[in-house]
Amino acid sequence: MTEHINLFDNVNRQFDEAADILGMDHEVREVLKTPYREVSVALPIRMDDGTLKVFHGYRVQHNGVRGPQKGGIRYHPEVDLDDVRALASLMTWKTAVVNIPFGGAKGGVTCDPSKMSQHELEMLTRRYIAKISMVIGPHRDVPAPDVNTNAQTMAWVMDEFGRKAGHSPACVTGKPLELGGSQGREAATGKGVAIITREACGVLGINLKGARVVMQGFGNVGSFAAKFLDEMGAKLVAVADHTGGVRNAAGLDVAGLIAHAKANKGGVAGFKGGESFDAGTVFEQDCEILIPAALGGVITKVNADKVKAKLIVEGANAPTTTDADSILKGKGITVIPDILANAGGVTVSYFEWVQNLQQFFWEEEEVFEKEEKIMVQAFHDVHAKVQQHNCSYRTGAFVLALERVHKANLMRGW
Ligand code: NAD
Repeated sequence: MTEHINLFDNVNRQFDEAADILGMDHEVREVLKTPYREVSVALPIRMDDGTLKVFHGYRVQHNGVRGPQKGGIRYHPEVDLDDVRALASLMTWKTAVVNIPFGGAKGGVTCDPSKMSQHELEMLTRRYIAKISMVIGPHRDVPAPDVNTNAQTMAWVMDEFGRKAGHSPACVTGKPLELGGSQGREAATGKGVAIITREACGVLGINLKGARVVMQGFGNVGSFAAKFLDEMGAKLVAVADHTGGVRNAAGLDVAGLIAHAKANKGGVAGFKGGESFDAGTVFEQDCEILIPAALGGVITKVNADKVKAKLIVEGANAPTTTDADSILKGKGITVIPDILANAGGVTVSYFEWVQNLQQFFWEEEEVFEKEEKIMVQAFHDVHAKVQQHNCSYRTGAFVLALERVHKANLMRGW
């Protein structure tokens, strides 16, 4: 049984828990919750078979008081305006948690990229960017990759935006290295997830060496999180994705699984180094650490009770509903929220933007060193709020973010 979740309501319920702690009045809450601008566009595309198809695209700019709006572009059949709103709002709180000078935005196009050719995807991306080009730009709103978009998509974004604005690599992040991308950007979110997992294990008294990790999603975020956690001594015991599940109690060979997924359109199914299992039971698998790294709204009141992990680290955006949060809290399971756990990606996107504006490039070592510093600082800033207010990590992260955004808003004026 699945549960229909309105992700934007879910984020606003999380917001309210923190706003209650801060004693925020109704007016301030309304200002901080309401998106600054929402753009909805129709995208007619001539498909390879000659038919004309109209796709729908969105860009939601949630809040820009701390800097240009920032957030990824998602291509998925289930993308709708509410989802994009929720994800844009999360970006506002995420950039504030890691204290980088950006606001929050998100984009999405309702489409199924697995059924589209490269040429159709390029046409769709160019049409989408042409239609939202008046509201994006290096000092307005800077898109990035998200589910089903990648460095190639970002290259098309830069090229299309540049047709009108002139060469502007800082208009988008997550670009290929050859076009001004940053060293380390591809691995950044997964690396951040691993760093935050390590810090959380430190304060919770979980020995990361040998700790069993279960993961949903083995794309950009999941595969790099697995790689870095493996290097830290953790043991990946089960992974599920859209193609199926694979598990091995003795530990999966992470490098082998990454190579297998690469050779199989990103899917883990059919990996020989483990047995297959029903992907729908991934959250029930035995482990110390559970990392959802696929889509939102997957840990719900329907399955939260079956979770066996001690620690959940949200690699994905909005994977846990507020109902599930309460159940997990009752079971003594710690949840490290998306706005902290997966903020490594936007942090290195910020570095990419800085490098582009300066037309100057950093070595990977420098990028990772700076990412590590920001992520560790953010974890301990949130941990301090958790101790101060005796609250969950999610509420602690929201308290920190709300304070920062509200303060900036007050200084600038409404
Ligand atoms: P991706 O497209 O590279 O990978 C998505 C993964 O999810 C794949 O392994 C896919 O098989 C799996 N998946 C899709 N549908 C599924 C289903 N129904 N059941 C199980 N697995 C399914 O995407 P990504 O960039 O790794 O993003 C994953 C999550 O992390 C998303 O929630 C995204 O918003 C979030 N995120 C990504 C970044 C980033 O830098 N890429 C940054 C922050 C947050």
